[in-house]
Amino acid sequence: MARYKDAVCRLCRREGMKLFLKGPKCFTDKCPVEKRNFAPGQHGKDRKAKVVGYGLQLREKQKTKRIYFTLETQFRNYFEKAARKPGVTGELLLQQLERRLDNVVYRLGFAISRRQARQIVRHGHIDVNGRRVNIPSYQVNTGDEIQVRDKAKKFTVVEVAREYASHQPVANWLEVDRDNLKGRVLNLPKREDINLPVNEQLIVELYSK
Ligand code: SF4
Repeated sequence: MARYKDAVCRLCRREGMKLFLKGPKCFTDKCPVEKRNFAPGQHGKDRKAKVVGYGLQLREKQKTKRIYFTLETQFRNYFEKAARKPGVTGELLLQQLERRLDNVVYRLGFAISRRQARQIVRHGHIDVNGRRVNIPSYQVNTGDEIQVRDKAKKFTVVEVAREYASHQPVANWLEVDRDNLKGRVLNLPKREDINLPVNEQLIVELYSK
C-alpha cells in the first residue's frame, strides 16, 4: 500500500500551520513551525506572493488531505463519493474523513496523532463492536463501539495519549470511557462538530473544474 514516507514536518511548514502529525513534539517549541515558519526547500523563504484563485483552492485541498494523512487517490475518491450523494458536498467530504476509524481512535484520545492512530489500527489493536478491525479507512456508523484491545491497553503510547486526552474535551458526536479505553459513536459528525481550519468549499471548487 502506498504511503507518505518523507519527513512529515515539511507538510506543516508547506501549509504554514501546525497540522499535528507528530504527537507530543507538536506541543513543544521543538516544532519546526515554531522555529522556521516558512515553506521547506531551497526557495521556501522566497515564497512571498499572496496565494489566490487556483493556488488557494489547491492549498486548501492539500492541507485537508494532509491533516487526515490520506493520499491523493483516496482523497479524490472521498470527494467523488460525496459528490454523488444528496446534500452539501464539502460537508459530506469532511464527514467521510471524520468517520475513518483512525481518525475516530485519535478523536477518542487513544492515540496522540492520526498517524499513530493509524498504526494502532493497522496492527490490529482496535475492536469495533467486539470484532478486530485493522483497516484505518473503515467508516464508523452511529452506535458503533470502538475499543482498544487488552494487549494494547498497556502500551506506553496509549497511556501517554490517554493522559494527554484527559485534559481535552471529546468531540461531541462521540462518547468516551477513558478508564476502559472504549468509546461510542453517538451520531454522525455535522460540519459544526468538525473544528478544523478548513474551507471545504474551495476543495469542491477545485475538483469541480
Ligand atoms: Fe507539524 Fe507536529 Fe512537526 Fe510541528 S512537530 S511541524 S505540528 S508535525
